[in-house]
Amino acid sequence: MSELLINDLQIPYQIQKGKKGRISLKIKDGKLWITTESGRLQTADSEFLKKKEKWVYKHFLEQQKKEISRKKFLELLPSQILWQGQLVAIDWKIGKKNIYQLRTDKFFEVYTTQELSYTEKKRAIKEILKIEASRYLKARLTNIASLLQLKVERVSIKAQKSKWGSCSSKRNINLNWHLALLPPILIEYVIYHELLHLQEANHSEQFWKLVEKYVPNYKVLDKQLSEYEWVIGILD
Ligand SMILES: [Zn+2]
Repeated sequence: MSELLINDLQIPYQIQKGKKGRISLKIKDGKLWITTESGRLQTADSEFLKKKEKWVYKHFLEQQKKEISRKKFLELLPSQILWQGQLVAIDWKIGKKNIYQLRTDKFFEVYTTQELSYTEKKRAIKEILKIEASRYLKARLTNIASLLQLKVERVSIKAQKSKWGSCSSKRNINLNWHLALLPPILIEYVIYHELLHLQEANHSEQFWKLVEKYVPNYKVLDKQLSEYEWVIGILD
């Protein structure tokens, strides 16, 4: 495989043939994908690539970090999971009924009638987390909504593919259940963000001013949120 050396990083790349007169770059599956008109690197393409080195380096490194976090998380399954930004132990036990309990914030206890395989355990964890997430996120949202004295029509906890949350013109708020795996400060930020869309239904300057009033460090939190993207769909 061809590799590109940028600073200390060896970046594998693949070239694809694309639309006329276009060149595009994308980082995906641990590779840089270069799409050029000819499907090869012509002089102009190489020059373009040279100019984009900083971008490639930054994004490749970011994706590498996410991949490491993702792998670490999966290695800890099924004995530990992420919950509200912390690692929580799961104690698997055989019992007369299928039952689970959240003993403390740092300890889940799961009883099953028979020994489960890794895949079954993973599926069970997902079900447990979805239930707990729904309970926790709804409670947090209700709490913050009353602090802000905002009326929400309906709250739904869903499994969105890329968003942490959304807000509709009908005053319905959707939150992604995976949000409950993140540190509470990020959970709160997303909830404030969506609730404040009830007042400003866009991302105008006005809206960000409003956000800043309640979450002064929202820019830092936005960045941290994007670093957690790997969490979405991790148990699928
Ligand atoms: Zn928004």
